[in-house]
Amino acid sequence: MLPFIRSDLAQFTAYKPHPSSDTAQPIQPSIQIDRLDTNESPYDLPPQIKEKLTLTFEQLIETNRYPDGGHETLKSAIAEYVNESAHLSPSVFTPSHISVGNGSDELIRSILIASCLGGEGCVLLAQPTFSMYAILAETLGIPVVKVGRNETNFEIDLQAAQLAIEQTQNPPIRAVFVVHPNSPTGNPLTTAELAWIRSLSEHILVVIDEAYFEFNQNTLIGELSQRPNWAVLRTFSKAFRLAALRVGYCLAHPEFIAILEKARLPYNLPSFSLTAATVALQNRTLLLESIPQTLIERAKLIQTLSQHSTLQVWESATNFVYMRLKPDGSHSQDAAVKNLHQNLKAAGTLVREIYGGLRITVGTPEENTRTLNRLQAALVHSNS
Ligand SMILES: *Cc1c(COP(=O)(O)O)cnc(C)c1O
Repeated sequence: MLPFIRSDLAQFTAYKPHPSSDTAQPIQPSIQIDRLDTNESPYDLPPQIKEKLTLTFEQLIETNRYPDGGHETLKSAIAEYVNESAHLSPSVFTPSHISVGNGSDELIRSILIASCLGGEGCVLLAQPTFSMYAILAETLGIPVVKVGRNETNFEIDLQAAQLAIEQTQNPPIRAVFVVHPNSPTGNPLTTAELAWIRSLSEHILVVIDEAYFEFNQNTLIGELSQRPNWAVLRTFSKAFRLAALRVGYCLAHPEFIAILEKARLPYNLPSFSLTAATVALQNRTLLLESIPQTLIERAKLIQTLSQHSTLQVWESATNFVYMRLKPDGSHSQDAAVKNLHQNLKAAGTLVREIYGGLRITVGTPEENTRTLNRLQAALVHSNS
């Protein structure tokens, strides 16, 4: 190891981005590759919106100039969308309640910097959950306390979580991250989980990641005005089909937003990304039209997968499905899941192997049909 590297980063495992289309070449070139491992929308932007963005790029963006570092236009558009989608009065959320990030990933890092850095706090997570929270905390030298979940419905082990909060000292737990609904398991927060996060002291920041909001309309933003220790994260990477452009936002108390604004890089979003997100919001009705179909496709996937006697499949409030192999007593489940993952990959379907199961993004109807066929073949193959 290079002698100047921080020692705790030596054994650190980085996030593994999914292969780009050029490196994800199939064994046989004729195979259709389906990228169902990162919960993106299967649909590119509609051509008329791409044209609009091309024109904007040609006519309005001066590439020699720094972008709008205050994000005012985008923040106003976000405020309008958020108020409308939660049926709140237009004045509830204003740009002062919003910080925009280079993906929600950047906001997660700013939140960690603002709450826990410098030995001031630990982060509490319930595994399995979105992997970036732990990865970003570890790169900042912030300790992560992990508790488990109920293996039947993936509810957080609230007793363990409460105990961790009471017993973790020097530093104490300063931030709790929950995904609503969770990734990779697809379950929204339960009544008991909601009661627990509401019961937490104002000394603890609660981050509620609503990356999949558009697929279920579950949101806690209506409570933000009474809860200065809550922050809600959203992203343009999923339902809004802009994963390539890296735009996320945080909704929170203006005092906390002011701190996040100090912690971020001054020009964290390229002009093109700012414009694309604004245009996506202006065209939200069109862009979100694909969602009902995704939900129908999700139901079909879950229904068909549930008919397999060897699979355990969970309900989902998101654009992905989580499944495991039922324990059969004889084989190692872990090895069997790895094997299934590899066989699917060899057939051209990329899914995420995580926590002893597979997380499969809902794709286009054609992709989903291929997923079911390839999975069927892979299961037969794995059993022989
Ligand atoms: C996909 C996802 C995000 C999005 O991250 P970006 O950096 O905005 O692309 C955030 N949180 C969760 C839980 C996700 O699954």
